[in-house]
Amino acid sequence: MDLLDLINLPNTRVLDVTKSKNGNVTITIETTESSVPCRNCGKELKCCHSTDKDRKLRHLPVFGRPTYIVYKPHRYLCEDCDDQPTTTATPSWHKQNSSYTVDYETHILMELVNSTIVDVCVKERLSEGSVKGVVNRHIEGRINWKSISQIGVLGIDEISLQKGYKDYVTLITCRVDGVVRLLSVIKGREKAKIKVFLKSIPKKLKRTVEAICTDMYDGYVNAAKEVFKKKTVVVIDRFHVAKLYRRELDSYRQKILAQLKKELSAREYDKLKGAMHILRKGNECSSKKEKAVVSELFSHSSELMEAYRLGLKLTQIFNTHMSKEEAVNKINAWIKEVRRSNLLCFNKFMKTLRKYKSEIANYFIDRNTSAFVEGINNKAKVLKRRCYGIFNIKHLFQRLHLDISGYRLFLGKSAC
Ligand SMILES: [Zn+2]
Repeated sequence: MDLLDLINLPNTRVLDVTKSKNGNVTITIETTESSVPCRNCGKELKCCHSTDKDRKLRHLPVFGRPTYIVYKPHRYLCEDCDDQPTTTATPSWHKQNSSYTVDYETHILMELVNSTIVDVCVKERLSEGSVKGVVNRHIEGRINWKSISQIGVLGIDEISLQKGYKDYVTLITCRVDGVVRLLSVIKGREKAKIKVFLKSIPKKLKRTVEAICTDMYDGYVNAAKEVFKKKTVVVIDRFHVAKLYRRELDSYRQKILAQLKKELSAREYDKLKGAMHILRKGNECSSKKEKAVVSELFSHSSELMEAYRLGLKLTQIFNTHMSKEEAVNKINAWIKEVRRSNLLCFNKFMKTLRKYKSEIANYFIDRNTSAFVEGINNKAKVLKRRCYGIFNIKHLFQRLHLDISGYRLFLGKSAC
């Protein structure tokens, strides 16, 4: 086989291959297209009239050497149009105004997935501006609705761009058949802004939204309810709910332990070592020794034992398949039980639970969660750290989109 068949540039013929002193490879080619549509009237032009000046494009490396493609684009003349304008043929493997072939640009984008612009610059010996140019040519700064045929579960969640600051960014994502996509990055988390985006979803796609998963932030819940009305269920993510009551259990336990530290002897208190860790990881995976520590702690505080029993009971409700109605009944029974216990540790959580009972219980309809959003949040957090804080919303969208969908979008193309 002719090695030059591997060049993978359709409708071309190799004229010459040279190696320069610094080891760079230059492949001179000729394009072999037979016609080109007139840029004015669209008619297929077959009369090649002249050639344009040389184009020198970086291509995929040959045997690890920087490789360039040189070609002269053909120009075609239209005899039907006034002034007989010429049209320059741009091959499918070259995007206008780029100094790279499309294959090389795809390679750059792949290199950029889960990496940084600076790293790619060093590895490819490119300038920062060049790499950014590739990103801008291929990755749009916002969702192209035409690229999506179905939304499935829509997730709304936020991250803060700088730790400790309240500069929130809302991430809107979706998942359909296991594939997760980024739909939007919105500066802030105000209801009005979220509504603007939700309203911008084309009608046809809006109908494909199966459920909207969010945390219990009022702005998100209300934006979703107001835009989608009663047509689509809004689910408050069960893991966000669990986080809330576990946090209250945690602080209750801390309070009890602090009390016990004052009341018990050092030797007695020492027996409770590690209780926090054991209780956090949950009952099922504790060893005998760990269970002994927990029962030692509970022997000092029956209230804490009761609080943990109730917490576990609520988790079990979420772990059981049942209808929404059944779930609401169980949750109501749980609320009564908490009240009867006279425990105050769940007070704040109970308020949220009462306020959003219906949205929380919507989980039981299809058991949708926004666990996939958490995965994206993690990607965003890593991206933020990797790139020392990306503060431009458009860049954040492009890079996050590339990290989430890059392999799916580009691996297929360059692999075949
Ligand atoms: Zn024409």
